[in-house]
Amino acid sequence: MNILDRYHAMDYGPAPEARNEADAWLAARDFSKALFIDGTWKAASGGKTFETSEPSSGKLLAKVSDARATDIDAAVAAAAKALPKWSASSGYVRANVLYAIGRAMQRHQRLFAVLETIDNGKPIRESRDIDVPLAIRHFIHHAGWAQALDRDFPGHKGVGVVGQIIPWNFPLLMLAWKIAPALAAGCTVVLKPAEFTPLTSILFAEICERAGVPKGVVNIVQGGPEAGAAIVNHPGVQKIAFTGSSEVGKIIRKATAGSGKKLSLELGGKSAFIVFEDADLDSAVEGLVDGIWFNQGQVCCAGSRLLVQEGIADALIAKVKTRMSRLRVGSPLDKNTDIGPLVDLTQLDRVKGLVAEGARQGAVCWQPDAALPSSGHYHLPTLATGVSPANILAQEEVFGPVLAAMTFRNTEEAIELANNTRYGLAASVWSENVNLALHVAPQLKAGAVWVNGTNMFDAACGFGGYRESGFGREGGREGMFEYLTAKLPLGPVIKPAAISAQPVEQADGSTIDRTAKLFIGGKQIRPDGNYSLAIATAKGKLAGEVGLGSRKDIRDAVSAARACKGWPDATAYNRSQVLYYLAENLSGRADEFSARLVQLTGVTAKAAREEVDRSIERLFLYAGLADKFEGRVHQPPARAVTLALHEPVGVVGIVAPDTSPLLGLISLVAPALAMGNTVVAVPSEKYPLLATDLYQVIEYSDVPAGAINIVTGRAAELAGVLAKHDDVDGLWVFADAETCAKAEAESIGNLKRVWSSNGRSLDWASDEAAGDAFLRRAVEVKNVWVPYGD
Ligand code: NAD
Repeated sequence: MNILDRYHAMDYGPAPEARNEADAWLAARDFSKALFIDGTWKAASGGKTFETSEPSSGKLLAKVSDARATDIDAAVAAAAKALPKWSASSGYVRANVLYAIGRAMQRHQRLFAVLETIDNGKPIRESRDIDVPLAIRHFIHHAGWAQALDRDFPGHKGVGVVGQIIPWNFPLLMLAWKIAPALAAGCTVVLKPAEFTPLTSILFAEICERAGVPKGVVNIVQGGPEAGAAIVNHPGVQKIAFTGSSEVGKIIRKATAGSGKKLSLELGGKSAFIVFEDADLDSAVEGLVDGIWFNQGQVCCAGSRLLVQEGIADALIAKVKTRMSRLRVGSPLDKNTDIGPLVDLTQLDRVKGLVAEGARQGAVCWQPDAALPSSGHYHLPTLATGVSPANILAQEEVFGPVLAAMTFRNTEEAIELANNTRYGLAASVWSENVNLALHVAPQLKAGAVWVNGTNMFDAACGFGGYRESGFGREGGREGMFEYLTAKLPLGPVIKPAAISAQPVEQADGSTIDRTAKLFIGGKQIRPDGNYSLAIATAKGKLAGEVGLGSRKDIRDAVSAARACKGWPDATAYNRSQVLYYLAENLSGRADEFSARLVQLTGVTAKAAREEVDRSIERLFLYAGLADKFEGRVHQPPARAVTLALHEPVGVVGIVAPDTSPLLGLISLVAPALAMGNTVVAVPSEKYPLLATDLYQVIEYSDVPAGAINIVTGRAAELAGVLAKHDDVDGLWVFADAETCAKAEAESIGNLKRVWSSNGRSLDWASDEAAGDAFLRRAVEVKNVWVPYGD
């Protein structure tokens, strides 16, 4: 045997991480008192416990208190009691606490890593080198935000008591992503970890005691879905931050509808890993190992769909198989292990079931020839080829070590395949041509895009989804907004529209009979149902008639808005010019609009003129801001720049208020347009003629067909149609409380971003009814990671 043969014959010896400290920690604790409420350790009322076991052996680790609704009540009460003092404490005081948490975690870094690996099954290399250091960085990074709050977020304050629910795949890291920004913003929290992985959160609660976190500021309860639901439904909670499956995310969206609770959802994914033919294939293969086999594929943003350009498909697949054969499956506490066990037997069965179904649907599933440990929930890394886009392995989140491979011919096809999913969490683009990568990145419907890399995260960079991957961002400046509320100038409570059966009295002396149509795709169109709505003047006389829009009209308007590419693809400068032109043309007809306001609403001529002038001013404002509300460049510790791009949400439905019917409509439509969204607006039900009078202004202002669509009619009914429409990406509803609640509840089909006024109008004339708070709703933040260096 020569040296080379010996070299190839060498195998890894065992390299186990010591677990005695973790075992001692486990032995010393009474987990039947594991609820950390108001700074003390409590048993669950009724004394119930649940079991957590070790995925690599199935052995019982602990019987942990299982919180009931009364325990959640106690935790929320503790958080509410602690809130006034904590939120009023200086940013410096809160920064000190966050920093102390980070430092205390550093001192127990190894114990955190070993416990995480024992409880979750993830390889120690990952918990030691990724999960725990990132969690610590989160606390230290957010210490800075606590102090910078007044400087960076003027006019904002902490949202209050926050309920936080997290999954089992990154137990400590998800806890850090939740608790650090909340504390920085001056909120107090009730956090519930997943029932499979309670241990590191218990160690974290001990750290809070030692780091001097005031009692009641951090409350950590243990339990399953019931405890989670009790947090979600608790009236004392002002915000829910959830990370978990899209299925549960939808339940929570529905449960919180109409409650006024702020909500962020970080949900599942089916992320594309796109390899172009000019990519460095060896790097791409290593990326793929991190992309799909990191944490056994139990990663929300796992690159579970490999899209490879046809010409290099065979070569890449061969390299992937070779690399897969070298992945070491085994004890997660072994420092050489690449693939540990899945978290639980139920998860293993689920993955096996999906692989079998994928094969039944035509995929060819390949696994390396490797032995699995005799006990534990292990699954071999799996590569599925010949996967059709409709195959279950291409569409469903497997949450296991399973890669589904497909080929594409050209860039357009790659983008189309990548976006062919209901999710939108992340994507990787591999090409040595950075121009191509940066051409593709903005076209991918995903919250994070990694160029020549994968699974890069940092506390300074936002992370979160598009579409059914949820809404809201975690990390960095954009993540802080999730725990803050901006002061908005509240107006009157909106009452449900009274549908009058009374015929409106004919106006005296009217000669020309005019019925305003709908405005769809740049044309004035008769309503599909051919019904009209009589509109009264302030004196109860007939002012005119408008079309009674229906489900079909909304569908047509949404199609027109979706088909309009000229607006989202226009430069911000172009959009700005069109908005200026709209302002100019409205100003040319200011007298006419003032007269209309007087006629319909009965306001004085002076008040009407003020509303028109304010509307023109607002168009001017958003014209000016169209090319100024820009993204940022984050500078994470990695050798990468992260471009936080502001992208339009897409098709935005707007249900405008009756109060200040012209200004209210323009105050909502203009920021949406400024950021490149296309709009389907339902104007004030009572005063729609102000919107129909705008048709000509729009027609004369170079607005591309389909960018603004206006459907008049019954606001509550049309809001419901917009909420249920799966091609509407965002919905802003300024209507009565019932309509707002229904819009939120019915938006779960595609988890559209709903902004509802909860039954209140705004004082639209106020300066606070304009600006960044509106523009922020009009964009999705996409973080594009671009590494640099040789
Ligand atoms: P899950 O939705 O089953 O559970 C998540 C959490 O919600 C757990 O704590 C659970 O106890 C709780 N829960 C379950 N039902 C509930 C209910 N009705 N009301 C309130 N709480 C309830 O998800 P999981 O299986 O624990 O985690 C895996 C999922 O998490 C995957 O879909 C993954 O993609 C997602 N995830 C997303 C991100 C992200 O940042 N987008 C990060 C990690 C994981």
